[in-house]
Amino acid sequence: MRSISVFGATGSIGEQTFDLLMRAGGPQAYRTVALTAGRNIARLAEMARALRAEIAVCADEADLPALRAALAGSTVEAAAGAGAIADAADRPANWVMSAIVGAAGLVPGLRALRHGSTLALANKESLVTAGPLLMATAADHGARILPVDSEHSAIFQALNAEDIASVERIILTASGGALRDWPMTALANATVKEALAHPNWAMGQRITIDSASMFNKALEVIETREFFGVEPDQIEVILHPESLIHSMVGFRDGAIMAHMGAPDMRHSIGYALNWPVRAELPVARLDLAQVATLTFRAPDLARYPALRLCREVMAVRGLSGAAFNAAKEIALDHFLAGGIGFMDMAGVVEDTLADLSGRLRLGNALPTLEDVVQTDHLARILADETARRIGRNR
Ligand code: NAD
Ligand code: MG
Repeated sequence: MRSISVFGATGSIGEQTFDLLMRAGGPQAYRTVALTAGRNIARLAEMARALRAEIAVCADEADLPALRAALAGSTVEAAAGAGAIADAADRPANWVMSAIVGAAGLVPGLRALRHGSTLALANKESLVTAGPLLMATAADHGARILPVDSEHSAIFQALNAEDIASVERIILTASGGALRDWPMTALANATVKEALAHPNWAMGQRITIDSASMFNKALEVIETREFFGVEPDQIEVILHPESLIHSMVGFRDGAIMAHMGAPDMRHSIGYALNWPVRAELPVARLDLAQVATLTFRAPDLARYPALRLCREVMAVRGLSGAAFNAAKEIALDHFLAGGIGFMDMAGVVEDTLADLSGRLRLGNALPTLEDVVQTDHLARILADETARRIGRNR
């Protein structure tokens, strides 16, 4: 029986992973090692009981008594704290879902790779902050990373073992998020609620706002560069409001392979869970006559400064991805709290990158985890100061 762990089990990706595991037979089909969550203790305990996990871990030590109580009478062990989450990744499992949101997902993923686990990677922030380190760790330990982000799963499937040297370009599709049809002048005043109204995908709150600002696509461009090892100028972004083509690969003979399907993350999660087998999945089938038309348009860089910033990050590489992601997370916190406006988020990130510009380049050296953690920390402090200043001057 295959053993599995899910990091970030109570989130949007975590819940959909749980759904697929339970449909496949739950504890009859998989041996569950660890499940982890942030604050939703009741749900974590419920999932751990259903899958008969070895251990359930929550992020905050203050929640440990509640987790123990919720697991009373079961065989599931309880633990708490960021250290305990990372330690849970040291318990060997064949397949590990990395679905914590944000930079907090990096260390558990690295630890799982060191044990040779197959890492199903939803946490794109790991590749953005420490791509070369993550890929080298996988290579050193003979571990495989399977992409779960829908675009990267689509690219992986479109590549289907073709020689990467025959790839001319990778075309990432973007829905444009909730505000894509708003006039430019209105964007500065967009509220959290408005930015959360995603037209096609139901996702966690943070990634939904990042979709509206295209910071999500910016992270995905960097994720593409790091995961597939292509050059930045080979990566294009195209707006595709229907979200039915999940991305495309263009080859040197002019052919383009596009991956289509209903917008349902259980496809990408299920693909990574069952790879290399294509198992039957409970996703809606496309009725193309009903779909009738697919539309595309070039994204406007003035509207989406994140798409310009990710190019600067890739040009520097080194530690700039760590700074970019951390500043983006802080800017998003301030936007969610009402401190800064929607368009101010890019300003916070741009200023933070400028503040740190002297210390992000590494030449050809691989970033160490310590470098990444330190840069992440520093960028958060600087981004927080900048966001407060912008907030005061609004
Ligand atoms: P979410 O906010 O719904 O869930 C995040 C999970 O991580 C929850 O279990 C939460 O409790 C846990 N968590 C949050 N902060 C934590 C911390 N500091 N320490 C430990 N655990 C913590 O997020 P999501 O939408 O499921 O996204 C998860 C990841 O997958 C993100 O990296 C996101 O970019 C990526 N992703 C999500 C989708 C989607 O459809 N939701 C699609 C593609 C990629
Ligand atoms: Mg995506």
